[in-house]
Amino acid sequence: MPSRMDSPLQVAIIGAGLGGLSAAVALRRQGHHVTVYERYDFAGEVGASLSAASNGSRFLEKWGVDVSAAKPVILKQLIMHDWSSGDVQKTYPLGDYKSKFSTPYYNFHRIDIHKQLLKSATEVAGEGPPAELKVNHKAIEVNAGEGVIRFENGSQATADLIVAADGIRSLTRELIGIKPNFTMSSSCAYRCIIGADKLRSLDLEDYISNEAIEYWGGFGIDKIVMSPCSNGEVVSCYCFFPSSKTLPDAGETQNAWASSTTPEQLVETFPDLDPRMKKLMLNAEDIKIWRLYRHDPYPFWVKGKVCLLGDAAHPMMPDQSQGSCMAFEDAGALGLIFNKNFRNDYGVVKGLGLYERLRKPRATQIQEASFRAREDLNERIGWSSSSDRPGKLTIEEVCGYKMEDHLERLKVEA
Ligand SMILES: Cc1cc2nc3c(=O)[nH]c(=O)nc-3n(C[C@H](O)[C@H](O)[C@H](O)COP(=O)(O)OP(=O)(O)OC[C@H]3O[C@@H](n4cnc5c(N)ncnc54)[C@H](O)[C@@H]3O)c2cc1C
Repeated sequence: MPSRMDSPLQVAIIGAGLGGLSAAVALRRQGHHVTVYERYDFAGEVGASLSAASNGSRFLEKWGVDVSAAKPVILKQLIMHDWSSGDVQKTYPLGDYKSKFSTPYYNFHRIDIHKQLLKSATEVAGEGPPAELKVNHKAIEVNAGEGVIRFENGSQATADLIVAADGIRSLTRELIGIKPNFTMSSSCAYRCIIGADKLRSLDLEDYISNEAIEYWGGFGIDKIVMSPCSNGEVVSCYCFFPSSKTLPDAGETQNAWASSTTPEQLVETFPDLDPRMKKLMLNAEDIKIWRLYRHDPYPFWVKGKVCLLGDAAHPMMPDQSQGSCMAFEDAGALGLIFNKNFRNDYGVVKGLGLYERLRKPRATQIQEASFRAREDLNERIGWSSSSDRPGKLTIEEVCGYKMEDHLERLKVEA
C-alpha cells in the first residue's frame, strides 16, 4: 500500500540558492510547510548576468515572482561576431519568441532574481504558508530513510520531504551514496561587469541597446559571451579560455569565484580579440576567475525522503545558459507532483520516484548538450537546428518543453 498524504507536508530544503528558493516557492504554493536551511548567515548570491529562457521564465511567472522588480532585459536576438574584427557574422532574431514559447527570454542580474525569489518564498502575502529561512544552518548529516537532518550548529530537523539544493559541491549528494565523477575541463572563464555610463563614455553603447546575447569565437575553447541586465544599466561578460594558460591565484578549488584579476591580465589572455571588446575589458570591474568541471550524470537523484535539485543534481557547463533554468524546472516538477490534489494519491517515496523519472532524462540531455556547446557554438540552442546535425538540441525542444504533458505520459506508462 502506498503511504497516503492527506495533510500538507513538512518540507526541509537544504540551500537557499536559486534552486532551493524556487523549490520553496513552488511547494509553499501547494500548501506545504517549508523551511529552508542555509549554511551562511546571508543567503547572498554572486555572479553577473543570468538568462532565463522561457522554459525557466514560465515557472517564475506561474509562481507570481515579481519579475519586473528583478529588472530584466528582454533579449531580442543572438549576435555572432568575428573574433578579431568584431564584424557581425550572423544574427538570430528572437522576434516572435514570446508568442511562440509563451514567456520572454529574460536576462537578469543574479542578485536581483535571487532577491525576488527569496521574497516570494518567505513573504506573508502569496499562496500557501510562507517558507521560513534559517541561516547559519550547515547540514552535515542526513538520514534519508527517517527524514532527519543534523546541522553543524548542533540542531536537527525532521521532515516528510528533504530537498537537497546545496549546489555543485553538494554534501547531501555524497551522504545519500553518490560518488561524483568529475574532471577538470579544458576551459576556464573570467567574468566581469561594466556599467552603462562607462560604456556610453567609451562609445560602446550598442552593447546595451542591442538587447542581445553577443558572442565572439566559440569554435574552440576561446569564447566571449556578453549580455545586458539590470534594466540595461549593467553589461556582463563571460570570457572562456584554455585552462592550460596561467591562472594567477586561482588555486585548486572548484569554481574559484573569489579569485580576482586585473583588466590588463584579462586583455592579455585574448591578444587577437576585437579592439572594441578589448576596450570594454580594460574598463571592466569585478573581474573574477571561474574554473569549469565536467560532471558525469549521477546514477540516481533520490533516496528515501531525499531528492537532489539544481546543481546538486545536474551541474553543467554554462554554454547553453540553462543551469538555473533546469533548477526552475526541477522546482516546477516538485510543485506539480506534490500539488494540492495529487498528493492524496502519492506517498513521498512514490512521488520522488516520479520526480526522478521526469527530471533526470531531461536534465541529462541538457547537461550533455551544454558540454557539446563548450567548444562548438553551433550546438548552442538558437544557433542549432536538428536538420544540420541529427541529435542537436533545438530551441523548440528546450524552450517549448511542456512539463505537464511529459508528466501525464509518465503517469499513463506507470
Ligand atoms: C557564471 C555563471 C553563469 C551562469 N549563467 C547562467 C544562465 O545564463 N542561465 C542559467 O539558467 N544558468 C546559469 N548559470 C547556472 C546557475 O547559476 C546555476 O545552475 C544555479 O545558480 C544553481 O542553483 P542552485 O540553487 O542549485 O545552487 P547554488 O546557487 O550553488 O546554491 C546552493 C546553496 O546551498 C548552500 N549550501 C551548500 N551546502 C550547504 C549545506 N551543507 N547546508 C546548508 N546550505 C548549503 C550554499 O551556500 C548556496 O546558498 C550560471 C552559472 C554561473 C556560475
